[in-house]
Amino acid sequence: MTTLTDRFGRHFPYLRMSLTEACNYRCGYCLPDGYDGPSRGFLTRGEIGRLLRAFVALGMSKLRLTGGEPSLRRDLVDVIADAAALPGIRKIAMTTNGVVLARRVADWHAAGLTALNVSIDSLDAVRFAAVTGFDHHAQLLDGIEHSLGLGFASVKLNAVLLRGVNDDELDAWLEYVRPRALSVRYIELMRTGENADYFARHHLPASTIAAQLLSRGWSRTERAFDAGPAVEYAHPDYAGRIGLIAPYAPNFCAGCNRLRVTARGDLRLCLFGEFGVPLRDLLQSDDDGETLRARIAQQLGLKAAGHDLHRGNTGITPHLASVGG
Ligand code: SAM
Repeated sequence: MTTLTDRFGRHFPYLRMSLTEACNYRCGYCLPDGYDGPSRGFLTRGEIGRLLRAFVALGMSKLRLTGGEPSLRRDLVDVIADAAALPGIRKIAMTTNGVVLARRVADWHAAGLTALNVSIDSLDAVRFAAVTGFDHHAQLLDGIEHSLGLGFASVKLNAVLLRGVNDDELDAWLEYVRPRALSVRYIELMRTGENADYFARHHLPASTIAAQLLSRGWSRTERAFDAGPAVEYAHPDYAGRIGLIAPYAPNFCAGCNRLRVTARGDLRLCLFGEFGVPLRDLLQSDDDGETLRARIAQQLGLKAAGHDLHRGNTGITPHLASVGG
């Protein structure tokens, strides 16, 4: 089977599919006033199935379900099961804020979800509530503990690194991962169309964490071919790992291996690209599969070498909930 390849020789086995733009959190860097857009009009289960079949035929082997908050979809278990039934998809991951984790995660796992990413920006309950707008910290930690017992291939926690908010928590996270086989990922705050002030106040390069890890005896690990953008660090005395996602680092885009489709069916070649390519018109009938695959492959020719974030150009992305972070 071929994988999609662009003009810079990059392969794209990894699709990030947004299931909804809606979110029930109010993270200061994303949707500080909450989501107030439409709650309908997102791709249906049937449209998602056709889209995924096309991507599988083009060599996609890893799928991430995201949003918005994907657990807001009532048909989430069916969407996961449909994807799991497609031969060729080896990994089905989902990124969630974990609000319903303790109640739902076993169903997601049983339906075929293989990997879980849970967003938790702080190990401190008061800080967590200040960032997200909700006092859910204890139930989130319970849900994570519960998830660890289910046999996922991987459980990862996402923490956006925020200057003056959570930039002093590395040692607490190291104690957390000492006995737990999971990976905590620090994501460097990205500037989007709507968060310029927040970004100016709280952005901190992920390299500050890298320096602390190295000084504590942690070392970099090898990156798998379909791995996400994180650089991972390990230490022999710890069961877990720490990952760093540094989108402003030189060469970050050289390792790009993923494409995105929005909850309304637009192909996005880059999280911070200047345009989306509508695919939804070709998701209405099984007869359009060939045309759909041709459109996706042709558009890949337009993928740029890199984003322009370091020059403050955030493309058409007002916030990550709109594209699927
Ligand atoms: N609602 C889900 C969640 O909370 O994980 C999935 C969508 S959310 C957009 C995916 C991830 O992107 C979360 O870990 C979130 O913290 C992160 N994120 C959102 N906006 C960001 C930004 N401007 N910079 C860096 N990470 C961001």
